Amino acid sequence: MKPFVLFDSHLKNKVEFAPEFEGEARIYVCGPTVYDDSHLGHARSAISFDLLRRLLSHIGYKVTFVRNITDIDDKILNKMAQTGKSLEEITNFYSDRYQSDLEALGVLPPTIEPKATEHIAQMSELIARLLDHKAAYQTQNGDIYFDVTTYPQYGFLSGETQEDTQTRVSTEQKRNSRDFALWKSAKENEAVSYDSPYGRGRPGWHLECSAMAQTHLFRSGAKYACDIHAGGSDLFFPHHENEAAQTKCAYDNSLSKYWMHNGFVRIDGQKMSKSLNNGFFVKEALKLFPGEALRFYLMSIHYRAGLNYNYNDLNASKKRLDRIYRLKKRVDSQNEQAEAIFKEELLSAMLDDLNISKTLAAIDEMISRGNDILDKNEKDKTAKAVFGGNLKLIRDILGVGLQDPYEWFQWGIDEEDKKAIEKLVVDRAVAKANKDYQKADLIREKLNAIGVSVMDLSDKTVWEKL
Ligand SMILES: [Zn+2]
Repeated sequence: MKPFVLFDSHLKNKVEFAPEFEGEARIYVCGPTVYDDSHLGHARSAISFDLLRRLLSHIGYKVTFVRNITDIDDKILNKMAQTGKSLEEITNFYSDRYQSDLEALGVLPPTIEPKATEHIAQMSELIARLLDHKAAYQTQNGDIYFDVTTYPQYGFLSGETQEDTQTRVSTEQKRNSRDFALWKSAKENEAVSYDSPYGRGRPGWHLECSAMAQTHLFRSGAKYACDIHAGGSDLFFPHHENEAAQTKCAYDNSLSKYWMHNGFVRIDGQKMSKSLNNGFFVKEALKLFPGEALRFYLMSIHYRAGLNYNYNDLNASKKRLDRIYRLKKRVDSQNEQAEAIFKEELLSAMLDDLNISKTLAAIDEMISRGNDILDKNEKDKTAKAVFGGNLKLIRDILGVGLQDPYEWFQWGIDEEDKKAIEKLVVDRAVAKANKDYQKADLIREKLNAIGVSVMDLSDKTVWEKL
């Protein structure tokens, strides 16, 4: 087996994945701030690293996958003020909706999904270490900042080594413009605050991930809290830079051995934005297409490249996925064994930094080959088994082709229409059983007229939307 090669965003190069503990992969992905529904950027990030996780599991790694929930943040406090709801009401509501969106997209649940508010003690402890090491300071109003000048490597992880002058702030608050808040002291009438040895307040966003990665993935004596730290490219600076600086200054270990970042999503050539009302939310896309079609589309462009989301491409992607389902109808889905040549092709593409275009080209070629063979002999048992095994491999690694192929082609038909169609299908079967072939044919024509085709299999009759 070839090794997994990944593009490390810090080194800006492809490197061979060599985790700290043999056979294990510890992955930390930055999760959402739960104050609103998830958008296509969240979906793309989740799917990109779901592919990574499925691949590493498939080739035998024991994967521990941590994705956090940020459930304390200014945006959540704003939502509380706007709606009059409690923090828990808002964060539970949107975490549930986030999880149901990801489930619809076939993203496996993380091994551990820590919440920021459940790690206040660990964050306080991290702050204590930073204060102790003189890497942090407390201002007069009680806020605590990380002092970037105490960490000479600051900026080198992301390559953002230029001091930015645009956001220079008054020195009464913090010492350097790039210093960032570790603890925000509670203002008067603050809706939510927590006790800490430094007074009441709440943690800064960057602090959470360092504390939670250390809690859930660090192993005594390790040089890194995790093997791969991943997220959207918008998180690289300052979020990941800050996380890495905190961990390095607080502990004897670094935060992560490798860094992976996925590219941006644009919508119809525009910057993705809620205010543009341009199909920003995952839930909007899920009204138009099955979750698996959206998944397939969002993964069809290499994870590091930008993706320009648009209806036509999504529709074309759905049609490409339909080909997998058409083949699924023809094969033996019980077989688990993929063809050696196909497996080799698919894995070597994916092991090369998740090279999805090569992977999809291999799949397209395999499907054409399968169809050609089965066109010649629809009852070819060996072919049915071989290509059934190939589709199983695609399900495992890409997480697509999971549905019943007949139901797949019925997607989007409402329950009432479905019932009416099924009644006609039963009527036709009854007519056939009574040898009333004329009536059976009439019903078939009626179904065809409303865009439904029926197929008689050896043991049942099935239908699909044309
Ligand atoms: Zn993070």
